[in-house]
Amino acid sequence: MGAAVMAGDHRTFTGVNLYHFTGGPCAELVALGTARAQGAREVVTIVAVGSGGRGVLTPCGRDRQVLADYHPRCRVIVPTGQGPRSVTVGDLLPGGYRGPDAVDEDGTRPELAGDR
Ligand SMILES: [Zn+2]
Repeated sequence: MGAAVMAGDHRTFTGVNLYHFTGGPCAELVALGTARAQGAREVVTIVAVGSGGRGVLTPCGRDRQVLADYHPRCRVIVPTGQGPRSVTVGDLLPGGYRGPDAVDEDGTRPELAGDR
C-alpha cells in the first residue's frame, strides 16, 4: 500500500504501510504523519493505492477515525464502479464518534463534553 496526501498549502506527502504482525501503521497514517512532521497542519485530500495493480482503495476504519478527528474537512479519493471519486470523511464515517484528540474544522480543539 502507498498513500499520498495534499496539504492546504498544496505540498504533497507520501507514505507506505509498515506491515508488522503487531499491527503496523497503514500507508495513510504514515503519509499523514509525514505531512505533520513537515509542518503541514491542514490536509485537504488523501488517496491510497494498493500494490499489485489493485488501484485506489478505501481507507480502513482506523484511518477514517483519524481523518475525522484531525482532518474533518479532508476529501478522500475512493474507488467506485465509475472510477475514483472524491468524498468527504463524513461520507465514509457518518455519525462518527469524535475522539478525545479531535479538532474542530478551524483547527481548534472542541470543549470536552461533561460526559466524556
Ligand atoms: Zn488503514
